[in-house]
Amino acid sequence: MDTPALPALSELTDRARVVTCPLRVPFRGVTERELMLVEAPSGWVEWAPFLEYGAEESSRWLRSAVDLGWGHTPEPSLSSVEVNATIPAVDVAASPGAVARLLDRYPGCTTVKVKVAEAGQTLDDDLARVRAVREARPGIAVRVDANAGWTVDEAFTAAQALTDPSQGGGPLDYMEQPCATVAELAELRRCLGSRGMMVRVAADELIRKSTDPLAVVQAGACDVAVLKAAPLGGVAQVRAIAEEIGRFGVAVTVSSALESAVGMYAGLLAAASLPGYTDDEDMVVAPQAAGLATGSLFAEDVCAPREIVDGRLAVTRLSPDPDRLAALASPAGRRDWWFDRLAASYAHL
Ligand SMILES: [Mg+2]
Repeated sequence: MDTPALPALSELTDRARVVTCPLRVPFRGVTERELMLVEAPSGWVEWAPFLEYGAEESSRWLRSAVDLGWGHTPEPSLSSVEVNATIPAVDVAASPGAVARLLDRYPGCTTVKVKVAEAGQTLDDDLARVRAVREARPGIAVRVDANAGWTVDEAFTAAQALTDPSQGGGPLDYMEQPCATVAELAELRRCLGSRGMMVRVAADELIRKSTDPLAVVQAGACDVAVLKAAPLGGVAQVRAIAEEIGRFGVAVTVSSALESAVGMYAGLLAAASLPGYTDDEDMVVAPQAAGLATGSLFAEDVCAPREIVDGRLAVTRLSPDPDRLAALASPAGRRDWWFDRLAASYAHL
């Protein structure tokens, strides 16, 4: 893989802007998304590791931004990418119409990912949310994402309930990161298999936050691998890992890390450059609908967002709108925090 020469830290800071984008509903426990945007030679790029991430982990996100901004941009195989709808852990009992309203933001999407196992909620809350999705969009393929929130027993109980027709359940496309560890995912897969339950297990955090992204795949602990461009170090990294994963017969979903419309380009480019989209015979499992439509969760974005057309997003590079950059600019204290963070992460490149 070609690694471009590293721009000086001063070049990055001179070109950087820090913004705060409000979200429509809380996601990952936050109501706004702070982002750093950098005007690079090849176009605008984004560096936005989640706030709790340390300098070393955040440096992989920085490598992704530098590669896209200062390196060679690969030619995608597709001009648009199929995407899934995303439903945050909204409380259906408190706001009965929320799920249907959120789904309306994803025209033509035939797959939905529903957040479950949120702190402070119960399995009944999750079941009600998934039921509301199935009622609003009969026949839609449902994935659930527990963000490692369940034990093996809890995940197994949830899988039974979510697929039980007498409880309003139905088929599950997959359960994303139901538990925290490789051993737990492997055990859950064994439990599901021994009961004849056709529910796939996907790994997300175990890939994105691991020093060895392939460990969970090599252990036979997942059926689907969720790959995110910035956390893995960029588009070329995603492609290389996807090629490796394909050899294990594990499917790939490219997903977002709650980027702005500008930052989402990296994920779209990665999804449109996967080996499975070519006639590559090594790739035995077709890529899955990508989790890249999370821009719909933003109440305000840094530019006019891409529109979802027939369940797909165009693989287009966007620049921030100068007026929106000014309107969304973060307070000085937060801007300073991001610049300090940039320096700390840069030191790890
Ligand atoms: Mg996830």
